[in-house]
Amino acid sequence: MGKTGVYIQVPFCQTKCTYCNFHTGVVSAGRFAPYAEAVCREIREHRRLLESVGVSLPLELASRSGVVDTVYVGGGTPSLLESRLLGKMLAALRETFACVLEEVTLEADPETVDAEKAAAWAAMGFGRISFGTQSFVDEELKAAGRMHRREDIYRAVPILRAAGILNISFDLIAGLPKQTEESWRQSLAEAVALGPEHISIYMMEIDEASRLGLEVLQGGVRYSARELPSEEVMAEFYEVAQAELQAAGYGQYEISNWARSGFESRHNRKYWLREPYLGIGAGAHSFSGKQRWANRHDAAAYVAAIAEGMSAVETVDTVTREMALEEEFFLGLRQLEGIEIGRIAREYGMSFAERIAKLAAAGMVEWDEERLRLPAGKLSVSNEVIVELLRAVDVGA
Ligand code: SF4
Repeated sequence: MGKTGVYIQVPFCQTKCTYCNFHTGVVSAGRFAPYAEAVCREIREHRRLLESVGVSLPLELASRSGVVDTVYVGGGTPSLLESRLLGKMLAALRETFACVLEEVTLEADPETVDAEKAAAWAAMGFGRISFGTQSFVDEELKAAGRMHRREDIYRAVPILRAAGILNISFDLIAGLPKQTEESWRQSLAEAVALGPEHISIYMMEIDEASRLGLEVLQGGVRYSARELPSEEVMAEFYEVAQAELQAAGYGQYEISNWARSGFESRHNRKYWLREPYLGIGAGAHSFSGKQRWANRHDAAAYVAAIAEGMSAVETVDTVTREMALEEEFFLGLRQLEGIEIGRIAREYGMSFAERIAKLAAAGMVEWDEERLRLPAGKLSVSNEVIVELLRAVDVGA
């Protein structure tokens, strides 16, 4: 039986970043405890709640013998929560599943870290902190509406290390307003110098419904939309990151992720390999292998449903053969190691050789009989390449 990952969503933030359109809210701290209570109840009663909405759970998600090996508490800003609430969530997981935890991650924003919290996180089993650093340039952090500043990162990292956290990941964003090649190189250099085990680089995506997105569409100066780097410049930033991180000893293993050897994220790998995972909390998504389902986004409605003993699931979709095949490409090709094209051909009864040959000849993909992958130089335009590939293999793009 496979091992399962559990994702817990904490949809609360201190402020709303200008580029963000996640379903997160700025709420009073009084809302945290009822939310954590609902999360614990959803964990304990997940089997009954999911069966009530027609989800067929595979054994690894349904029974006490199901082994959970990775946990990821993300958001939002889960590090805002009092540690005892996070501890309750992990305790509920340990009571409900046979946990053999190999990777337990907490997303944290630098300004929320203090020595007491860091010690509590380490003691309750969080061995990996995913840090929302985003940039080391105050002007960029301020323009993006972030709460922290460069000095908060320098203050927080030693606190985490002193608490015994051995696995730290930094997030950086390429394409923030006011970012230049020089400032981007500075952020990369400062990040590397602090020695995190893992670095994620996200390309700025402007959501039209975010405040920054609206300013791009409607004009204005408040959120510095006019100082956004162009797409071409962002692609250059990405290539600069690839070169700098490789030179610093970080191996790229996924479109957005680099790690020191052995520190690749086990939890996120489950998403790309289409392994089962259970999502808990408002807006959390889950996958059983055959179905995908999602909880309602609104945190208050989520808490109310669970408090009444009802499921908070809003959508349940059966994954058809076509969808599964498309996912194999879209998710699997995010990894630098690519996908097992031989296995996929056998499993789906299709032959891809002829269809892929043209793209390979054009340098868009690399392949042999067993594996298909994107060349490192095409990763900054991976979406376009994957869409082209899906057209070529005719799986519905
Ligand atoms: S901290 Fe993250 S989730 Fe919260 S508003 Fe900023 S970008 Fe969005």
